[in-house]
Amino acid sequence: MITVSEWRERLESEKCYDLVSELFDRIERSKLNAYITLCKDFALSQAEKYDRGELKGKLSGIPVAVKDCISTKGIRTTCGSKMLENYIPPFDAHVVERLKQEGAIILGKTNMDEFAMGTTTETSYFGVVRNPYDLDRVAGGSSGGSGACLGGKEAVLALGSDTGGSIRCPSSFCGVVGIKPTYGLVSRYGLIPYANSLEQIGPMACCVEDVALLLEVIAGKDERDSTNAGVEFKFDPSKADRKFRVGIVKEMGGNEDVNGRFEEVVEVVKGLGFEVGEVSMPSFKYALAAYYIIATGEASSNLARYDGVRYGFALDKLDTWTKYFSKVRALGFGEEVKRRIMLGTYALSAGYYGKYYLKALRVRTLVRRDFESALKDYDVLIAPTMPSLPFKIGELADPLTMYKMDVNTVPINLAGIPALSLPVGFVKGLPVGLQIMGGHFKENDVLCFALRLEKEFSEVF
Ligand code: GLN
Repeated sequence: MITVSEWRERLESEKCYDLVSELFDRIERSKLNAYITLCKDFALSQAEKYDRGELKGKLSGIPVAVKDCISTKGIRTTCGSKMLENYIPPFDAHVVERLKQEGAIILGKTNMDEFAMGTTTETSYFGVVRNPYDLDRVAGGSSGGSGACLGGKEAVLALGSDTGGSIRCPSSFCGVVGIKPTYGLVSRYGLIPYANSLEQIGPMACCVEDVALLLEVIAGKDERDSTNAGVEFKFDPSKADRKFRVGIVKEMGGNEDVNGRFEEVVEVVKGLGFEVGEVSMPSFKYALAAYYIIATGEASSNLARYDGVRYGFALDKLDTWTKYFSKVRALGFGEEVKRRIMLGTYALSAGYYGKYYLKALRVRTLVRRDFESALKDYDVLIAPTMPSLPFKIGELADPLTMYKMDVNTVPINLAGIPALSLPVGFVKGLPVGLQIMGGHFKENDVLCFALRLEKEFSEVF
């Protein structure tokens, strides 16, 4: 894997143009299928600019991959769907504007589950993403392309989006670091929505320091997103030396492989002299169900915009409005997306609204309260990110089994708090991630704790 400091070191003796060309050679030969669209000409012209000393900023000359649900002006943005196969946005997302302002080199758009719905990137219209550690296994989802391109040395930094775990899952499966920021810290302007009240764009990278750097760039005020908190983020690594109070979330676990490694990690944390205790989250058992009701409800309403008229997939032969609308959607959306539109429409329908949606909102409040009370006694909470090692491609054929894999990640989105996945070693040759959670806008605590732990696991990675 390539860190920002390693890349910068190489830039001292080599031309950015040559390094970026080398990266594209690697990407073009790769079997991972991490990218949907490459921006080779644009990236190489930016690299030349860097070589001429014309590219300035915090990320100058650093190659970044962008998840394909984030709008990029003039660059195809598909959201992993046939519906948007030829869609070229006329504007940049807020985070992309920030990348450009800071001199980053955008390599291309990464593969993802269709409309970010999935845990394995198998629902992408553009084919599955393979795990850099085992090509027969998935890279996780939905930001599978962003995880795989980092794990496979095909980018230095990447952006993902996380509605219910989509940054943390591929980070865990590909052995990289990724953080879902507090809801409202990063503007969602230009993010193609799946479930607006849950999702955030966030940084993924090969080490904690790099994730923090990218978060500094993308976080902050943007009036075009009404849920934006207007708060900037500045990383202060000096806080990493403090004594952390660490809570283990009792209900969040995994299978034998994952739990075995997690217990070893807990021993390491105790060995650092931190105060370690257990916390219980009574609402945990309802969180997954509540998430799938809220997420699909919001999705069913969001996805109504794909009507084959305004943009996206269209048919040549017109018909009555209802027939045309249904046909476009029948052909343009994949199976998982249609399933979720149906689930969401059902949960929001007049007779069932109170029974499902309203109840789910109540659970959401309980989940937030559980986290708030646990975080009164502890600075950070820890648990395995995913309950399992990366799956074999095709292993999760049944949708319900796939949904269950999000059990440890979705409560964080319901509560709106930040959570990071840190690689903490391998089991059977496959990476395992530790989920580190903190209070609202306490990204610095989460990152500092991760930085402290990263040192302990640095020999492994
Ligand atoms: N796997 C979860 C889902 O399918 C989360 C997806 C995401 O975070 N975008 O809804």
